[in-house]
Amino acid sequence: MLKRLKDGGGGNALAEPLRVVSRNGDCAAHLPPVDILLVDDREDKLLALEAILDPLRHNLVKAQSGSEALQRLLRQEFAVILLDVSMPEMDGFETAALIRQRPNSEATPIIFVTAHSTSDHEISRGYSLGAVDYILSPIVPEFLRTKVSVFVDLYRKTEQLRRSQQEILNLNVELQQRLSALTEINRELESFNYSISHDLRAPLRSMQSFAEAIREDPDSHLSSESLDFLSRIIRSGRYMDNLLHDLLAYSRLARAELVNTHVDLDSALKEVLAQLHKDIEDKHAKIEIRQPLGRVRGNLPTLKQVLANLIGNALKFVDASKAPHLKIHSEKDGAFLRIWILDNGIGIAPEHHQKIFGLFERLHNGSIYPGTGVGLAIVRKGVERMGGAVGLESKLGRGSRFWVQLPEV
Ligand code: ADP
Repeated sequence: MLKRLKDGGGGNALAEPLRVVSRNGDCAAHLPPVDILLVDDREDKLLALEAILDPLRHNLVKAQSGSEALQRLLRQEFAVILLDVSMPEMDGFETAALIRQRPNSEATPIIFVTAHSTSDHEISRGYSLGAVDYILSPIVPEFLRTKVSVFVDLYRKTEQLRRSQQEILNLNVELQQRLSALTEINRELESFNYSISHDLRAPLRSMQSFAEAIREDPDSHLSSESLDFLSRIIRSGRYMDNLLHDLLAYSRLARAELVNTHVDLDSALKEVLAQLHKDIEDKHAKIEIRQPLGRVRGNLPTLKQVLANLIGNALKFVDASKAPHLKIHSEKDGAFLRIWILDNGIGIAPEHHQKIFGLFERLHNGSIYPGTGVGLAIVRKGVERMGGAVGLESKLGRGSRFWVQLPEV
């Protein structure tokens, strides 16, 4: 801890220059000095203490009585206090007791300076009053400097810890503020998204119906090129309508108060398959279900939406030469139930497994596999809002295995 640098031969031990190196190897000389309180009724003893501690280069504050020491402690914080035991009026023990009563000095280390003749009884009294250590006079300078340096080191580390804790607290407050600001922005964006999607649908629908009316009107006498343009307008309108529909569903899901209840997966799936009935028939799809699937905690409309999107995709992303073949089953996973939807489709390369759950993320050409890129974003948002998780296992060309996990009931 203490490293004595050669001063070129012998000399006075008290005046010998010292460099203090702390245990972690930092040179204490580079650290800012700390305040040390020296309390003794005798000026000569205070001067001797000062001379011994001077090489440590700290701020030494002197007090000639217990009450002066207490006044000093009111004004500033000290790293360590050296307190003479035998003082007139208020002795070291009484002073220590009062020091300990004050919140800002209750933990400040106190080193009692006392004569060799001090009885064991007195020493234990000092400890019970919160003395951290004793130093016996006549004082061995090196010994005192070592003791003080240990307490200074401890004080600095405690200070550092306190500062770091404060910084963490401040960062936490800042983080909370940013989080609420972001949540607010998110809420505003979602409501903006909702109103835009809602308000755009009506004019879009009338544009579509007028385009259809012109195309179907036998008196319009349009060229085949103009009819083709009209068909393109209608197709684009239909795509935009689907997009607005999906965006509305997404923002509704993000904003809505979801009440989770017990949901029977088998009957939820039955309703979803009834909704997709036409698609299933048109594609001659085969769907195998291993029942019973079980019961989960969730929100029925949201869960149906999630299942409909996953099954819709499993029916859609299949090579044109094949009929879709889906397998649906569930399995226990701790407190959760995992529902699997396996398809024989075109598969998804592992590097896209995360990305496809983002808004508007699509991996395939819209003319072969039409869509808006919102479906899986709805799935993820819905599952998260029900306190669950979603994921997949898939390789390109090898089919996909999507799963949804929800609390089992
Ligand atoms: P959409 O179906 O409207 O294109 P989704 O958000 O539902 O959008 O899906 C995002 C993309 O993920 C799809 O465009 C497709 O590239 C890929 N994908 C989703 N489900 C499957 C699946 N079962 N098999 C292969 N690719 C899939």
